[in-house]
Amino acid sequence: MLATLLTEDGFPVRKKCTTEYSSPCPSPVCDSDDDGFVINAKTGRGYCRKCNWKGDDIQYLREFRGMGFQQAAKYTGRTVDRKGTKDWPDKKERLTGTICSTNKALWREQASTVINKARHNLLDNKSSILKRLLRERGLKIKTIKRFNLGWISKDTWTKKADWGIPTDGKDLLLPAGLVIPYDNHRIRIRRDNPDYGKYWVVKGSNLEPMIINPTSSLPLTETPAIVVESELDAMLLAQDLVSPYTVIALGSTNTKISNELSEDLKQRPFILVALDSDEAGEIAAKRDWTSKYVTAFRTPVSTSYGKDFGEAYVNGLDVNDWLFEAVELMLDTAVAQTSGEENTYPPESTVNNETTLPI
Ligand SMILES: [Zn+2]
Repeated sequence: MLATLLTEDGFPVRKKCTTEYSSPCPSPVCDSDDDGFVINAKTGRGYCRKCNWKGDDIQYLREFRGMGFQQAAKYTGRTVDRKGTKDWPDKKERLTGTICSTNKALWREQASTVINKARHNLLDNKSSILKRLLRERGLKIKTIKRFNLGWISKDTWTKKADWGIPTDGKDLLLPAGLVIPYDNHRIRIRRDNPDYGKYWVVKGSNLEPMIINPTSSLPLTETPAIVVESELDAMLLAQDLVSPYTVIALGSTNTKISNELSEDLKQRPFILVALDSDEAGEIAAKRDWTSKYVTAFRTPVSTSYGKDFGEAYVNGLDVNDWLFEAVELMLDTAVAQTSGEENTYPPESTVNNETTLPI
């Protein structure tokens, strides 16, 4: 079996699921990813996503171990008769390498096409939606272009196989609504018809938080972070804040923070946690932030303005005013925490040193 041969030849083979293994491509001239070579456990055939090498164990033995056909067939213990071979895997079977894991390169290619089309649809035709984004979310054309927002006019179904998504008999839905991409590895759609839920994430999307860095190139240790729930809120903050902050949108209060991002955040002078002013936001702020990072402070939007920045914008909040008050609140909390207690963050010098606070 192909996976065994690869292991014998020193390739790290990993089990992806009951029907699929992966490894680096065995071809010496191919520089595939570590899981770029996919082996179908049922058919025993392998396929490289990078160089398109296809074959079974016999093919492998002939190409990579220099065996002749008869020798290779014998080595695998297969029956060879005059007509050819028995118990071969079906040669016509098309192996796309998407049995249990999404083909990310293909997914991104499709996503990029959808995002571009939706972007043009929004910018060219949908002046009413553009006006709503400005009026209800405070987003300017420049920002809408920067983040590639788009519009899908009607529910569309496509084939999962075309996106490299494991097929399950159901088609892939791209519902009508506002397209909120994150580069080309996530498509979230704010649905035009919210009867089926407000947000829809296209299957195969990466669910990591959206990170928007300020244009200034200050080091991490001088760039504080703000954490919010909605990506549209994060865009509003990135657009309007005068001071250089990194804005992070979780997308959902249940989003997991990678170790890499966690290490990044620990180097920040402080983290303002502005998850929604509701019960879920409060719980997540404590559970995932203020109890985990000594430099994280809960600084929600005042409920007199609304539960998040989107609502607050409509009710007249200037995000720079919010930031000013959030930093004051943080300093008060920090001072209260440090009084009578040494070695607690932030140290006195930081609290009193205006230059470390970019406001
Ligand atoms: Zn290859």
